[in-house]
Amino acid sequence: MKELNLVYCLYCKSLKDVRCMKSTFKTGFIQIQGINYPMGICKREEVGGGNASPSSAQ
Ligand SMILES: [Zn+2]
Repeated sequence: MKELNLVYCLYCKSLKDVRCMKSTFKTGFIQIQGINYPMGICKREEVGGGNASPSSAQ
């Protein structure tokens, strides 16, 4: 039996692999197509808006 390791990212509003998640919420679930997925935040959100850092001029 295949185990689903998908988590719904609240920021991306899409399903991501659990390994890509920074944190998951054990208390919140979302139902998509009849399947309940845990909700969380992926690592991509932690990185933020990319490399925009004006103060670190070189
Ligand atoms: Zn995300």
